[in-house]
Amino acid sequence: MSDQAFYSSLQQKLATLKDEGLFKPERVLASRQGAEVVAQDGRALINMCANNYLGLSGDVETQKAAAAALEKYGYGLSSVRFICGTQTVHKELEQALSKFLGTEDTILYAAAFDANGGVFEPLFDENDAIISDALNHASIIDGVRLCKAARYRYANNDMADLEKQLIAARDAGKRHKIIVTDGVFSMDGTIAQLDKIVELAEKYGALTMIDESHASGFMGATGRGTHEHCGVIGKIDIITGTLGKALGGAMGGFTSGKKEVIETLRQKSRPYLFSNTLAPMIAGASLAVLERISRSTELRDRLHENTAYFRKEIERIGFTIKPGTHPVVPVMLFEAPVAQKFAARMFELGVLLSGFFYPVVPMGQARVRVQISSAHTREQLDTVLKAFEQAGKELGIIKN
Ligand SMILES: *Cc1c(COP(=O)(O)O)cnc(C)c1O
Repeated sequence: MSDQAFYSSLQQKLATLKDEGLFKPERVLASRQGAEVVAQDGRALINMCANNYLGLSGDVETQKAAAAALEKYGYGLSSVRFICGTQTVHKELEQALSKFLGTEDTILYAAAFDANGGVFEPLFDENDAIISDALNHASIIDGVRLCKAARYRYANNDMADLEKQLIAARDAGKRHKIIVTDGVFSMDGTIAQLDKIVELAEKYGALTMIDESHASGFMGATGRGTHEHCGVIGKIDIITGTLGKALGGAMGGFTSGKKEVIETLRQKSRPYLFSNTLAPMIAGASLAVLERISRSTELRDRLHENTAYFRKEIERIGFTIKPGTHPVVPVMLFEAPVAQKFAARMFELGVLLSGFFYPVVPMGQARVRVQISSAHTREQLDTVLKAFEQAGKELGIIKN
């Protein structure tokens, strides 16, 4: 406590963040997660900014599955997996995920952040090359940093640039090359072109890895993910993902792939070896979620109906969106102050939204990001669209 300058410098940096409008306050909910939430002041809000794509976060069936696992397996393990922290429910979930994703084996983590943080270092070294999309998630960037492999970056979703980087890695004599991409990019709702990526991987003898955090459970005809959507099931070497978004929303992550990859990670992956096991109630609930969405495509179908409806109507009102089909719908407002004012006005009108602006998205690309859920009713979507129309007119974004 003797270095006062340290604390002053932090205070100054925090003040600067606030001055620049980059400080992130936390919104406090007084209710469970859902299509409708209650704010701390008691106001009901329609929630358009959760990753709750299948509406399972605050769902009673999910909760009951968690409660059943809690009852059977207890609250926690006080152990990492390999000492005394593996229960039958963890093995069952790993098997179920492998079956769902079309892979040989799966390893669980406390978060997808840990899965990505612990996947590269055990598998690759300075003789290898990691070829990574420029917009990949922060956890992939950090995971790559922890590994000695050479790093090549290609422009977002740019297959010509990816090929250039593959050639550069080949010409540098790299032993193994792995192409790494988010299956879906969360700021734009862009879907990676996995069919083309697999083709390039085959051409240059590279491995492929996708992060399915914004895809597992609802992309593709039966919700298996972007690899199903793009017709490349069985052709992706490594799949990482989260249990904290569509697949129940509590927390937890996974890496899935060939047996020898997963076995190596169990032996060497640091966030797995040196961090506590996933709580059994989360494993149990995730297992129930996988069973539920494998039994029926109802939730997924409703999600895509809702998404198509919202995308069509928001454009009809006169807003500009990033085109696509994903439930992430970026409504473009371009200027940061407009995005901020817009999100604040929507909050007053009872709609919870988040605004994004530079440096999170490129300069001049400020937006509010809408995230559709299967739990939204048509009535709720119509209420949100009306609020968009009102706020849009008030702020002169759309014409009367
Ligand atoms: C959300 C997200 C993560 C982190 O997931 P957690 O399980 O919350 O750690 C990792 N990668 C991508 C692409 C994500 O969107």
